[in-house]
Amino acid sequence: MEDCIFCKFVSKEIPTEIIYENENVIAFKDINPKAKIHFLIIPKKHYETILDIDDENTMKDMFKAIKEIAKKYNMDEKGFRIINNCKEYGGQEVMHMHLHMLGGEKLSLNI
Ligand code: AMP
Ligand code: ZN
Repeated sequence: MEDCIFCKFVSKEIPTEIIYENENVIAFKDINPKAKIHFLIIPKKHYETILDIDDENTMKDMFKAIKEIAKKYNMDEKGFRIINNCKEYGGQEVMHMHLHMLGGEKLSLNI
């Protein structure tokens, strides 16, 4: 999608450090980290919100990404937090669906 910064990360039009990739998903560091580890996991295809994802392979690959990133970045033992902000009430700012993955320390922020 034009003018979507996350699509430009996927197409590599804008370079970013991709910390993880599988068939349908990439992950990269959040530019404004709220924890020692703060990654964003996004589908390669542009879906505006979590409600728009209609492809089972993408859903599977989002979960696969969570598991594999947890292992790769040593968050599998102590844990981490996954957040999705959806639309206005959820405070979604970037309209390309993404999961926040926060960890690397005990998180103090609450829902
Ligand atoms: P939200 O849409 O509220 O769930 O959050 C959007 C997130 O994207 C925020 O945590 C931002 O810090 C992050 N973000 C915005 N622009 C970039 C960027 N260019 N690179 C990495 N992260 C970004
Ligand atoms: Zn996009």
